[in-house]
Amino acid sequence: MNLVFLGPPGSGKGTQAARLSAKLGLVHLSTGDMLRDAVKKGTPLGQQAEAYMKRGELVPDALIVGLIEAMVASGDMKSGFILDGFPRTMPQAEALDRMFVKNGINLHQAVLFSVPDDEIVRRLSGRWHCPTCQTGYNYPAAMPDVAGKCDKDGALLQRRPDDEESVVWNRLEVYKRQTQPIEIYYRQKSLLREVNANRSPDLVFEALMEATAAKATR
Ligand code: AMP
Repeated sequence: MNLVFLGPPGSGKGTQAARLSAKLGLVHLSTGDMLRDAVKKGTPLGQQAEAYMKRGELVPDALIVGLIEAMVASGDMKSGFILDGFPRTMPQAEALDRMFVKNGINLHQAVLFSVPDDEIVRRLSGRWHCPTCQTGYNYPAAMPDVAGKCDKDGALLQRRPDDEESVVWNRLEVYKRQTQPIEIYYRQKSLLREVNANRSPDLVFEALMEATAAKATR
């Protein structure tokens, strides 16, 4: 099954993509994770992307499209995938369609995770993670036992620089301006399926399984 996950930052796309890909044996490709990794390693891509990411803006299409093109051409996505965080602009969506045609890939569904703005800001400004084992925490819903430290390995928790409240508002604005038109694009192709993501991760996962089940049996 080949899926695209859409939704504003903090809508839970990444969490749900990790869960669904593990359950169905799909490749999970998160462009945000790829870019953060490139920044951490100081690669040329990371050096170019870092300033955009810090401001909560999208990196230029040319940088990110090349990355996905290489993944599609590698054949690693042949047995099914979830694209998490790509496409995020209309030119990216159109470039993706061309890649799929060229490589004989069908997109089965674009899942949209819907969450109200105030809930997104609440979620992201309370989001922390362990840099060692990647366990996620959320203040005040899922706090560590000892403030600021990971329950599993005691490492000092960190937050993403773009989860600062002022940057979060900018990311939301960027989503509305640049990414939301893609919802219409996929709706017109009858590929869009909306999931109410304003509830617990378990309930969202149930809804996601239901939304994708019909596609899985086709
Ligand atoms: P995410 O983890 O998906 O929220 O992505 C974090 C940041 O990475 C975004 O705010 C953008 O700066 C950048 N980014 C991730 N995916 C894309 C994309 N498809 N196009 C442009 N920038 C992206």
